[in-house]
Amino acid sequence: MKPKLLAYRFGLTRTGAQLIRGASSILLSIPFLKRHGESKFPFYVCVTVDTEAGYVAKDQERIWQHRAPKAYQGFTAGIDHWLQLAEKNKVPLTFLLSTHCFSAPPESLSKINKLLKKVVKDHELGLHMHQNSDNALQDKLKKPLSKAGARYYSTDDQIEMLSASKQLIADNLGPDAAKEVKSFRWGVWSLSTESVSALEKTGFNLDSSAVPGIKGHTSDDMAYDWTKVKTHDPWYMSRTDYQDTKSQDSSILQIPVATFDFLGMKHANPAWGELLIPVFDQYMRQANRSKKPFVFVVLSHSCEANYENGWPTPIVETMDAFIKHAKQNGAQFLTLQEAGKKWI
Ligand SMILES: [Zn+2]
Repeated sequence: MKPKLLAYRFGLTRTGAQLIRGASSILLSIPFLKRHGESKFPFYVCVTVDTEAGYVAKDQERIWQHRAPKAYQGFTAGIDHWLQLAEKNKVPLTFLLSTHCFSAPPESLSKINKLLKKVVKDHELGLHMHQNSDNALQDKLKKPLSKAGARYYSTDDQIEMLSASKQLIADNLGPDAAKEVKSFRWGVWSLSTESVSALEKTGFNLDSSAVPGIKGHTSDDMAYDWTKVKTHDPWYMSRTDYQDTKSQDSSILQIPVATFDFLGMKHANPAWGELLIPVFDQYMRQANRSKKPFVFVVLSHSCEANYENGWPTPIVETMDAFIKHAKQNGAQFLTLQEAGKKWI
């Protein structure tokens, strides 16, 4: 069994949860954070939901969109669970959408469009690129897009993909909704340098694909590498190197996902439910807020909130407890665009 899957299952048992919580103060660390100065500025939390097909299997394995492209319950049930959670806690969420949803059969599609209209009204809708498992995008462009990473596509290819995705949103949710789509995340964090100008040219102003200090899938087409990035603060991206945090020569603001080390493994997704609160606490203690606010970006997926039959998974409860804890400790919840405006 894969170590990640073992971890999910272990974390769900009572003993597992207790052990993880108890050990977190010793075994958990946040690279690149050194406390300095007074915490004068606010601590913001952005909960981002990569919105895609899929579900959580009974044994807690995540069945992602590329393995189950027809599992539209990741949209219908998944978005619904997140919207209910947000409404209950009165927090805004950022849904980063794979336009694959628009390839759903009519009955599911009308449900999805209804939910997405709610998202547009009460939350933020951004784009999440999974071109290799996005049937709607491939149909729109009338060509297969077989590779996962951005690095396989030229700037012009990427402009074409980004424009067609926005067009799909306009076709289904209206042109006004598409115009407001300005936040972005590439699937499996595999953004490339070309993406920076492509995003600028297609009306985006913010990316949240960075996972500071982490790389993965090094030998396949999902490869991503953010190991040169040694900060958790936002920065304006460079058009000549997507990992360059110093030049700041584009209009694309990068707001990175919160990352952490636990038991020698590097993580970004708070699938370790029991770790989300300790990770938040450590960021809150250590992030430098003497000159600017700090933005803590939580990453989850629509389809991590639903089992195959659509029923809610334990992630919903984990997130509920997390939101309550973060609010009690003075954090303010914003969408990515709202956080971007506060940070500038
Ligand atoms: Zn994704």
